[in-house]
Amino acid sequence: MIITCRQLVEAVTAAREGALSVLEQLSYRAHLARCAACRAYAQQMEETVNLLHDVRTEDSVPDGFKAALLARLSKGTPKH
Ligand SMILES: [Zn+2]
Repeated sequence: MIITCRQLVEAVTAAREGALSVLEQLSYRAHLARCAACRAYAQQMEETVNLLHDVRTEDSVPDGFKAALLARLSKGTPKH
């Protein structure tokens, strides 16, 4: 299966989220391997998403995890 540059661009987000089928992943990687423009695009997306992720880390933490962390922190806090 050969995908076009346009299809690759559309698949970048899905690829990052692991939402591609095995066949789609193979096509995606095969395209990246021989298309410098899409490699550059995917790299740029990666960096952008990582930046966004840093900003939104607090929001993306699951509620249960945050509560557990807060509980642990408050237990560890010395009481005055
Ligand atoms: Zn391409």
